[in-house]
This record gives sequence, C-alpha cells and structure tokens, in this order.
Amino acid sequence: MINKKLLRRCPICGAAEGSILYTQKFTVPDDFILPKEYDVVVCGNCGFSFADTLSNQETYNKFYELQSKYESKVTGSGGGYSDYDLKRLNDTADYIEHDLQLDKNASIADIGCANGGLLKNLKNRGYKNLTGIDPSVICVQNVREQGIECIKGSIFDIQNKTFDFCILSHVMEHIYNLQDAIFAVKKLLSASGQLYIEVPNSSLYTDFYVVPFYYFDSEHINHFDNISLTNLGASAGLHAVHYGYKSIPVSNNVLYPAVFVVFDKISVTGTNYAELSLRNYINRSSQDSNIHSKISELIADRKEICIWGVGNYTFRLLATTDLAKCDIRYFVDSDSKKTGNGKTLMSKKIVSPQALKDFKGTVVISSALYARDIEKQVNAINPELKTVLLA
Ligand SMILES: [Zn+2]
Repeated sequence: MINKKLLRRCPICGAAEGSILYTQKFTVPDDFILPKEYDVVVCGNCGFSFADTLSNQETYNKFYELQSKYESKVTGSGGGYSDYDLKRLNDTADYIEHDLQLDKNASIADIGCANGGLLKNLKNRGYKNLTGIDPSVICVQNVREQGIECIKGSIFDIQNKTFDFCILSHVMEHIYNLQDAIFAVKKLLSASGQLYIEVPNSSLYTDFYVVPFYYFDSEHINHFDNISLTNLGASAGLHAVHYGYKSIPVSNNVLYPAVFVVFDKISVTGTNYAELSLRNYINRSSQDSNIHSKISELIADRKEICIWGVGNYTFRLLATTDLAKCDIRYFVDSDSKKTGNGKTLMSKKIVSPQALKDFKGTVVISSALYARDIEKQVNAINPELKTVLLA
C-alpha cells in the first residue's frame, strides 16, 4: 500500500497519515460541486477508511441543500414512498419502540430526515414530540405537510434546542467534518439523551456486492463498521450501549448492509441493554408453548417413555417442566461415557441405544440440535417405536 500525507485528516482520530487503498474517479455533470476524484484511504492510526479529498463541509452542505435527490417523491429514499423503503423505515421504528422501549413522550429529532418517512411511522405509533431537520427546503415542506414539525438546516445549524433521542440514519457517511458533526449532535442531546446512528456497513460490502465500486460514490465519503462508529462516538465522550447489523432493501431486488450504534450521552447505570436482551430471551424461552404442550400430551397419554438425550436440554426440562412426571423407564444416550456402569439420572438407568430393541413405549427425543438425526437412529434400531421430538 502507498502511504500518503492525508488531504483530509482522519475524521475520527485526526491522524495526518494513511495508506491508499484505491483511487476513484468520476466524470460528472458540469455544474457538479463535489470532488471528481478521491483516494479511498485507511487511517494509519485508528484504521478508519474514508475518501481522502480536498473539499470542505460547506461544499457538502450546499450540495444537499441544492441538489438533494432525497426531495423526489418518486425516487427519494427516506420518504417511505416505496414498499422497500417503508419496510426499512418500519424496521427502524420497530427497534426504537420495542427494543429500546423509547417513551412515547420523548422528544425525538430525525436529523437528515428527507421526506420524513421515519417520523411519520413514529407518529403513527403514538410518538407525540417529533421534529425533522433537513437542509432541503422541499423536504422540509413535505414533512410539514404531514403535520410534523420540521426545521430547515443541517446538523451544524440547530441552536438552543435539545432532544431526548436524536436519529442520524444514513447521514454520517455523507459528512465531511465528522468531528464537528458528532460534537454538534452531542449538544442537541438532553441530559440523559440518546443518539441512534445508522450507516452502511463497510465490513460487508463484498457480501452485498452490487456492481463494481458501487459503494464508492461521490456522496459516501466515510466507510464505517461498528468499531469505527463506536470510536466516533467515544471521541465525543458518548457511550456506545448497543449495536446491531441489518440488511436494508434499497430497491426491489438489492439489499444493502448497515450497522447501527446507540449511544448514551451519560453513562447511566440501570440502562443495561445486555439485561434487556436477556429478559427478552427468557420470555421467549419461557413461553415456548410448543414444548409445554408436547409434555402435557405425554403425561395425558400415560404410556411408558424413555428419554433419548442426557444433556443440558434434558437436565433443564426435568427440573423446570412436567417432564419428570412422565412414566420414565430409562434414559438413552449414544455417548458411551454417559451410559452403563450403573450410571443413573433420577435413579433411572442411562442405557445405550441398543436397549431400544426391546422397548415398547414412546421414545422422547430431547436434543436441541440433533433430534431429526436421532429419530432416524431410533427407526433404524426399532421401526415399531413411536417418537416424540422435544424440538
Ligand atoms: Zn484515524
């Protein structure tokens, strides 16, 4: 790789040197104001990849003010005019409402809101305190027409206002001066405010290959992954509390990789997303009615059973469900270390699969991953046996 002194210092860590990965050139319309060429570089210090180009934030601001393709009600993304755009915006709103459980009274700003598709979706979910911010006067009009407050301006223009929740969805990859932007948005957060940033995920460009160099365009000048996005927030003292990956539809047949990070302005003990995730998982597991109803049927059946699978899944089921109330003759496992030599579970023998040749009851297969394979083995040993899969 060729090392160079950067024209644009690393927008995350400020380093002055990097290496060139590729030089991208464009032949553009005569009135086009964004750079016609840039090097895609990797920062020599923090590893962030970006377009190294001599320009400035004012030029990009002017571009989005005057040449915004997001104004169009036909082709503009972010307005929710197509089925795939609606789905993308609905997924983000779902995440905000259900995963983050954001209060319906929270003040929410969507910065770079385009035609306000996400805000409209949040409004329909009962969110009351919504504000759009966009540099395009036409986008601002389109949002206001939906009865949603909208301010004309960029992330750098908003003064004397704070919000409980700020959204920057597919904005930061367009920003030339990321340091000014992240500090500006931090100022917009209320004392316990949160920030949601979603951007294209450069670590999956190859997996979501479209056409040659699709992801190197004149507007996308920052190539984030979850690490660089977290680093950007950290550079302004914001605490990354949650992140995730998604693939978003950008046309009827093309998916696009994205990554998002949720930041807290202050580190709040008690806002524990790991806990939230585990609570969701415990609810999902506890309410698995499929397994509970199969066990109830086994009990009602009053037939003798044996249980194939002497592992954690069985240990849990015996301790926490009615499985132990069944008439269990013995346990079966194909792992010879678990069987024979007087080994028992609930005082019942653990035997090898060959014992099934003489068995007459129901074989309950208790295996999270291999239930189908075990069922085939049971059929091979004794085709007469009835099987019930607890999976
Ligand atoms: Zn850097």
